Amino acid sequence: MDREEIARLLASLSAADVPPFRASQVYQAIYRQRVESPDRILTLPRELRAKLAAEVPFGLPAAVQQFTSNDGTQRYLLGLEDGKSVETVLMPEGERYTFCISSQVGCPVNCRFCLTALLGLERNLTAGEIVGQVLYVAARNGLSADISKLNVVLMGQGEPLLNLPNVLKATAILTDEEGAGLSVRRLTLSTSGIVPKIEELARAAVRPKLAISLNASTEEQRRELMPITRKYHLKDLLEACRAYPLRSWEHLTFEYVLLKDVNDSDADARRVVRLLANLHCKVNLIALNPGPEIPYGTPAAERVDSFQSIVKRSMPCFVRKPRGRDIFAACGQLKRMESELVAISS
Ligand code: SAH
Ligand code: SF4
Repeated sequence: MDREEIARLLASLSAADVPPFRASQVYQAIYRQRVESPDRILTLPRELRAKLAAEVPFGLPAAVQQFTSNDGTQRYLLGLEDGKSVETVLMPEGERYTFCISSQVGCPVNCRFCLTALLGLERNLTAGEIVGQVLYVAARNGLSADISKLNVVLMGQGEPLLNLPNVLKATAILTDEEGAGLSVRRLTLSTSGIVPKIEELARAAVRPKLAISLNASTEEQRRELMPITRKYHLKDLLEACRAYPLRSWEHLTFEYVLLKDVNDSDADARRVVRLLANLHCKVNLIALNPGPEIPYGTPAAERVDSFQSIVKRSMPCFVRKPRGRDIFAACGQLKRMESELVAISS
């Protein structure tokens, strides 16, 4: 809930008028102080606390299962109110932390190299469930959401632009100084390229940084790998990127999953450079994280190096280090296993 919704809720719970500052007190207690129950909001009158506790579901999603990788990455399977579950990943790196959060349960976009696609779409997450992932992982690890070393990426399960209202509402709460207090520069949304929604995102008052999963160097190749390209053509996607209003401190990020002998040649790299010419951007290469039922291979390190060195001549280009492959926490691997489902239902 945002502040206005909390104000309406408080009004509906009380016979007498509730002064407006009460909504701010509750808002700050939830998102900033992260109290776990209304009983702890000591600034509120006792009756209001009791009413909130009795009548309003309150609290964070809880991990049904937790997996720890030998590189320190944690994958949490979070249980939701309706019995569904979703995944959130914490990646510590020295002093820095990256949270990779989900926007939907499953994903309706059927990219051929991604395990999440096999789940299909189960449902959109609510704004509360999106914010809840950040608050839960922060609380669980004793981290304050406003520390400058925290990055949040909407790169878990789901296509965030197909759940844009909830993603934007969560963004506003996460980046509100009275809320979680995360800098908007530290929040990134990654999309498979839902062109009209990129235009809508551009108009949002508060919006995360934008990353685009490019993953191919030609229209035909992208249509094969990401069938959504039949609906939203690569040409139009790049057009929307050119029209996207970047803030002074911002650049676009293009992600490119390298698939062995499919899109990883030097010629592909040169085509990527041409496609992205005149865009203020950087490229993140990801060597495929393998998985059962994924019909592609991971290129050798030398192939990745050669691709990177070509792109790097024209724009910043990095290779994303795989994190948590051993616990299926890496990009494209977020699909809970059958054994995990059994664990939830039993
Ligand atoms: N749905 C959004 C965000 C989640 S996917 C999107 O597609 O952008 C996060 C990133 O993981 C995307 O860039 C996607 O291309 C990449 N990815 C998907 N499957 C992968 C795999 N098997 N190995 C490596 N990266 C993968
Ligand atoms: Fe969905 Fe992204 Fe996976 Fe494509 S890569 S299926 S858009 S989660």
